[in-house]
Amino acid sequence: MDASEPDFQKIAYAVRVPQYEPVSSSGGVFMLLAERILSDGGVVFGAAFDESLKLRHVRINDMSMLGCLRGSKYVQSDMNGVYRQVEDELSESKKVLFSGTPCQVAGLKKFLGKDYPELLTLDLACHGVPSPEVWRRYVDEKGDGLVHVNFRDKSCGWRKYHMTYTYKDRIEKVRFDKDPYMQLFLQNVSLRPSCYDCAFRNGGNCSDITLGDFWAIADVCPDMNDGRGVSSVIVNTPKGKSFTSELPEPVEVRYEDAVRSNGGFFTTFEVPAARNDFFAGLDSARNLKKHITRFVKTKSLFREIYEKLHTVMASIKRRILS
Ligand SMILES: Cc1cc2nc3c(=O)[nH]c(=O)nc-3n(C[C@H](O)[C@H](O)[C@H](O)COP(=O)(O)OP(=O)(O)OC[C@H]3O[C@@H](n4cnc5c(N)ncnc54)[C@H](O)[C@@H]3O)c2cc1C
Repeated sequence: MDASEPDFQKIAYAVRVPQYEPVSSSGGVFMLLAERILSDGGVVFGAAFDESLKLRHVRINDMSMLGCLRGSKYVQSDMNGVYRQVEDELSESKKVLFSGTPCQVAGLKKFLGKDYPELLTLDLACHGVPSPEVWRRYVDEKGDGLVHVNFRDKSCGWRKYHMTYTYKDRIEKVRFDKDPYMQLFLQNVSLRPSCYDCAFRNGGNCSDITLGDFWAIADVCPDMNDGRGVSSVIVNTPKGKSFTSELPEPVEVRYEDAVRSNGGFFTTFEVPAARNDFFAGLDSARNLKKHITRFVKTKSLFREIYEKLHTVMASIKRRILS
């Protein structure tokens, strides 16, 4: 929190940015804030894939390049040299937006050692980040010609998102809960060791703004529950608050509602029993996909039907109550 206002109370909003929501993971708020910083002559740091689909934090100073930062990529990004680049920009009094996981923002703050008025920090509600080695192996196994991966393709809806693998000559779409890489991630098997003992979620890193998916939107703002993405925006500092005038039609909500049904804001997961064996066998596994299937739980047909019915009943109940 800003030292200048230690008693600042967090403010929470439900927000959708119509022009960016369809191509962003949640409500598109990141793009809006990044656009604002760039139009003020500043620079933006965030995570982008390079040509070999390795994820790195990069510096963007041009609106036409901003698209590469858009969208959640579920792997740890390489931060090599980035904190120094941020410091260089700030020492030239440039405006900087740094966006990353809670621990990456905490690392930057520790590196800088002091507050810079020109620096806006934005972190994400974070489930944890998977191992880059597992991602490299997965990409290798996906074969030649893979040029892009979208972890959150929302063309079939925000909640039923797909992984989309774009090859030079074809596109492969897999529902998130059927994709082996995503199953491993969502069942917490492939997370970095530090993710199981995270001290930086839930404002622990003093970021200015935290963004996440507003999964409880159906209960909190039924009018916005139309299957398209909505962001939870948590404003943690007065500096973060000064950017809220940028948000289109923000709906103020209780903090507890904005983080409801979303472990990424505050939950630290237990190390699953399968994790040690999964990594112990990783080097010798010839086929990663097969190796993964030994360590993830798949849903039975009964469970799938039960969950579907549960969702339908909840939606009927909501309609009757409203
Ligand atoms: C690893 C990971 C875990 C997440 N877990 C949750 C969760 O449990 N609950 C939840 O509500 N939201 C989670 N999110 C955040 C959520 O998916 C959206 O990214 C966030 O709500 C912002 O959405 P947006 O539509 O505003 O912007 P988008 O355009 O979707 O977000 C892009 C921003 O995310 C950054 N980013 C993308 N991938 C990474 C990465 N690997 N490391 C660091 N920064 C990255 C980009 O630099 C950019 O700033 C997670 C994101 C990541 C990357």
